[in-house]
Amino acid sequence: MRLIHRSQWGAPATSAATYIASTRGVKVHYLGERYTSRSHDRCDDYVRDIRAAHLANKKENYSDIAYSMLVCEHGYVYEGRGAHKRTGANGNYALNSNHYAVCALLGSEGMTKPTDAMLSGIRDAIEYLRTHGDAGDEIRGHRDGYATACPGGPLYAWVKKGAPRPGGQDRDTDPPPAGSGTRYQPPAFPAGLRPNSKSPSARGLQKVMKKLGFLAASVPYADNYGPQTQEAVARFHNKYTQFRAPGLKHDTAIGPRGWAFAHTKAYGGK
Ligand SMILES: [Zn+2]
Ligand SMILES: [Zn+2]
Repeated sequence: MRLIHRSQWGAPATSAATYIASTRGVKVHYLGERYTSRSHDRCDDYVRDIRAAHLANKKENYSDIAYSMLVCEHGYVYEGRGAHKRTGANGNYALNSNHYAVCALLGSEGMTKPTDAMLSGIRDAIEYLRTHGDAGDEIRGHRDGYATACPGGPLYAWVKKGAPRPGGQDRDTDPPPAGSGTRYQPPAFPAGLRPNSKSPSARGLQKVMKKLGFLAASVPYADNYGPQTQEAVARFHNKYTQFRAPGLKHDTAIGPRGWAFAHTKAYGGK
């Protein structure tokens, strides 16, 4: 997944939007205006423009860019409000509470057909929101339950098919069947993940530590990387000492290499 965090595209690191514990799933959007294909160095300009337009929208009174995540034609995923923040894009309070919102940088005129890279990126965003934002299994279009043409014909047709990853290689968080030859890719390490912090959320880490047996299944999920998560990571490091910080007997901080190894071990089907 090619994830671009808020701070990397020029938004404040954490969204001011309201916390949300979980959703039923994700709704897919498009821009609903003319959009033209562009080189990737100009994609983040467009994302910043969307945020500025949303902040200037007095009628909606948005606290931030309305979408949870945005995906460009090159398959990069921009963190919008992000995981565990209620979206403002689905139409009303109930719709915003029920689903996250992933927006494709795709037009109603001009560039109207999604690229394979974009579909792959939307799929990445959906899986990210499941792992990090407790999104449920539903994948819908904005038009489901709300009077709008969004996300446009081509994208909606893909949503109705269940939003398959192009090329048929489904890369869900579930392990691929043994011997299928599908290469597992661990999710990107959440930059800034550290003990005693709740942003980025530690839920994904808790999930994988439970799966590997380092954290008891009865421990409730929480955004905070608290004492129980820290102990689980220390146990993980004591078993796989190659990921433990040199000279530390009790290393509670997971790093990118340990993160990738743990996910591959848990979900890589090995
Ligand atoms: Zn929409
Ligand atoms: Zn791009």
